[in-house]
Amino acid sequence: MDRETEILNKYDDIFCNLPKKGSLKFGNSLVKVSSISSQYYCEKKLELQNEFPLPPTEQMQQGTEGHETAISLAEPVSKEEAVQEALKEKEKAEPIYEFGIAWIHRGVPIIGRVDEAWFRGGSVDLVVERKFSNSLTIYSPYHVQAQLYCLGLGEMGFDISTTKYRIIVFRPSCRECEMLIERVCPIFNLDKMDFDCDIGEAGAFMYPFKKEETIRDLDWAIEYWLGKREAVSTKNHSKCRVCEYKNMCGSSLVKLP
Ligand code: SF4
Repeated sequence: MDRETEILNKYDDIFCNLPKKGSLKFGNSLVKVSSISSQYYCEKKLELQNEFPLPPTEQMQQGTEGHETAISLAEPVSKEEAVQEALKEKEKAEPIYEFGIAWIHRGVPIIGRVDEAWFRGGSVDLVVERKFSNSLTIYSPYHVQAQLYCLGLGEMGFDISTTKYRIIVFRPSCRECEMLIERVCPIFNLDKMDFDCDIGEAGAFMYPFKKEETIRDLDWAIEYWLGKREAVSTKNHSKCRVCEYKNMCGSSLVKLP
């Protein structure tokens, strides 16, 4: 079997064999990479979000809109075309946007969509994760998410032995910017670490992918989905202070009046 068929078969096997009602937490049959990264913000919050869903906050909506703005020019491609392109031999790596991934870890199907994966002959040179936030700081859930994308690409059959990942954080105001929509903002240049203009500001940071660390993070997260432990709440007061669940959360660190 050639490499292309092997990768596509792996992907299809996961989706064709999903149980209707899963045995994971909340009756799920799979776990999204984005949910795992939320566990590293506050697992208790993730639990409350599933049990008592609230309408999205303004900040969440801005994040989603910003993300959609950034992908709006991405050419829609089928998974067959994307895998074919990823395996193509070329001198310099080129990005594929919104690359779908799926793999099984300890019997649990995990799925995700990579903002940008830069491929060259089946090797992943770079994974790019974009965030929209009032703070340009890189938080641990961002690392978890980007590194899980690297791991997932490896599990699908791509070479991740030299993969790096880049996290770009944009101010929410950037989502209005034409330069972002047309992907000509200078921050998209791989050697640019920061950029600001009249509309907004962005910072970009590059890191080496660490496989062992990522598997350890994933193992910890999966224990929760398998029902082997209770949700762990944050130890950071400031997260509780801005949390929309602080009034109903028994673990909140904020004293209510
Ligand atoms: S109040 Fe604090 S501990 Fe409770 S869900 Fe929100 S962030 Fe987590």
